[in-house]
Amino acid sequence: ISPLRRELVHLSRLIAILAVAIGLSFFAIGTAIRVPFWQDFIFAIGIIVAMVPEGLLPTLTLALVLAAQRMAKRNVLIRHLTSVETLGSATVICTDKTGTLTENRMRVRELLVGLERLRANVLAKRPDLAERQRAFFQTAALCHSLHETERRGARVLLGDPMEAALVEMGRAALPDLGSARSVDEISFDADRMRQSVVYEAPGGRVLYCKGAPESLYPLCRHISELGAVRPLDTATRAAIVEAQEDMAERGLRVIAFATRSLPDVCERSTFEQDLVFLGLVGLEDPPRADVPEAIAKCRAAGIKVIMLTGDHPRTATAIAREIGLVQSPDPKVITGAQLQSLSAGELHFAVDAPEIIFARVAADQKMRIVEALKAKQHVVAVTGDGVNDAPALKSAHIGIAMGMTGTDVAKEAADVVLLDDNFTGIVSAIEEGRAVFQNIRKFLTYVLVHNVAELVPYLAFGLFGIPLPLTPIQALSIDMGTDSLTALGLGVERSNPVMMRLPPRQQNERLLNLPVALRAYLFLGVIEAVAAMAAYFFVLRGAGWHLGQSLAPTDPVYLSATTACLSTIIVMQIVNVFLCRSSVRSILSMKLTDNPLIVAGVTLELVLLLLINYSPWGNAILDTSPVPSGLWLFVVPLALGMIALEETRKWLVRRSLPDASNTAI
Ligand code: ADP
Ligand code: MG
Repeated sequence: ISPLRRELVHLSRLIAILAVAIGLSFFAIGTAIRVPFWQDFIFAIGIIVAMVPEGLLPTLTLALVLAAQRMAKRNVLIRHLTSVETLGSATVICTDKTGTLTENRMRVRELLVGLERLRANVLAKRPDLAERQRAFFQTAALCHSLHETERRGARVLLGDPMEAALVEMGRAALPDLGSARSVDEISFDADRMRQSVVYEAPGGRVLYCKGAPESLYPLCRHISELGAVRPLDTATRAAIVEAQEDMAERGLRVIAFATRSLPDVCERSTFEQDLVFLGLVGLEDPPRADVPEAIAKCRAAGIKVIMLTGDHPRTATAIAREIGLVQSPDPKVITGAQLQSLSAGELHFAVDAPEIIFARVAADQKMRIVEALKAKQHVVAVTGDGVNDAPALKSAHIGIAMGMTGTDVAKEAADVVLLDDNFTGIVSAIEEGRAVFQNIRKFLTYVLVHNVAELVPYLAFGLFGIPLPLTPIQALSIDMGTDSLTALGLGVERSNPVMMRLPPRQQNERLLNLPVALRAYLFLGVIEAVAAMAAYFFVLRGAGWHLGQSLAPTDPVYLSATTACLSTIIVMQIVNVFLCRSSVRSILSMKLTDNPLIVAGVTLELVLLLLINYSPWGNAILDTSPVPSGLWLFVVPLALGMIALEETRKWLVRRSLPDASNTAI
């Protein structure tokens, strides 16, 4: 169950209980003061109806849809609408490295051919290498699972960009390479971390293997140094590891190559044994340009970012440092192997570290990390692309699948799809999600205010026997009609960048918390109700009505007086929409042009106000009749008074809030 749905259940229950409780207590009061049963009954029902915000759910849904649309513009596709808001409460993001934080545009940078270190850019000047260490370049060119297609006359390689880079290097070094087909293959998987292909050669079958260095070292018994094969002794192994770590230290992704001539009789399961080590390749995958800024934003917003990668710890740390993900000299780095030996308690303790990287983790270990974070009361967003990532995506509060490299299974399991695979999209979606929560509060306040203004006329009617100042259909016309667009306008208020300088909101923070309820029900609501009742009496008194006098439902004076009540609520709500744009900031600090929907909403209110008063069918539908023109002058000071009171309240609140929330909410 998503936090938003939980909130809505809570909110509806709260309002329902409140409405019924108030309805029942006034029913009891009515009975006590001997109001006839049926009148008392209708009175109680009227109260309950007035207190229910009928327009809330459609507005909420539309606001979420529009927010999802804004996110789509930033390449974030929302699969479940309530995730829009869940994103806003995220406290931790577990993110892949390759393709999400980095560009996934691999370039071969450095090589270890046999034991000779060299830069990739000198390769063209060393044709001797390709001659003497042919198998190294054959592995690069042949050991892959790319698809080759013809596109506008050019041959293109489709698939893993790292393999494409390796194949290009291999083919450049060996232009004479034939187009033989592999006869067998042991495909890559993230647990084995290597891949092998088998080719038919004149002297028999040959296996070419590439993969993570650690996964190949134990399989190698020999090394081929420029054509000469010799046993792999301890010193040589150490030299290789040193070269590997040196490359990884600089953020390069290191891949090892090995080969073997297969004996005529050989079980498939024993293919990858007794290999000859050929060398290493260090590939560069630059971080995305906009990622450091997004990481800094997360830091300011109190959102923890944890890197989960299949890559080597050193490579992972180097990249993490480059993008500002780790700043301390020794961040906590946990490998998949270490993770396996951690108990649940130890893992809970480990994830508390401020800077933490999980490297060489398998996809099925993601789930454990997500669970540990959830147990720590974190709201967890996790990215994934492979089939094995699906459980973690499902288990997290927000599962984020990669749109470009992601499998269908991952997308199916996710709540959100990142169309361009870019980490930055997650952060802008969180920003948008935080705004949504605040916006829901804004229009919640807005509609609760008119609910009070709808309620008070019933109280006056039930308790004091005053002719009903606002008919049920008129009350409904506010909820579903005049206020609909302005409420929606509040629902799409632009995100305020200052929001991202505050910590995530508390998980137990309610939409309708005490300050919101007090402001809506007992402050703004009461002001508006007083204004509406004042307008009602203004018209009645103007026509010579006195307390206790009853009026026929068709009496023109009565019709005009209810119209005054309705019109005043509309006018006050026009003012109120600007007051509700922030609970602490002054209306003077906000630009009107920021929100065209509010402008459109206010225009709608004004048009409807005129139609309700002056059009024959407006009169017919809502039982209205034009208000005396003096009323408009009477309403102006009431509206200004509401602004003055609310501005004073905001000023007092601002004085008591020293931090950024001053300007954020
Ligand atoms: P990452 O999070 O870096 O994408 P992966 O789980 O995809 O990690 O890969 C884990 C490791 O397996 C890589 O660091 C690399 O050493 C190795 N590897 C990745 N892709 C291939 C491949 N196509 N062939 C062989 N080895 C690979
Ligand atoms: Mg990968």
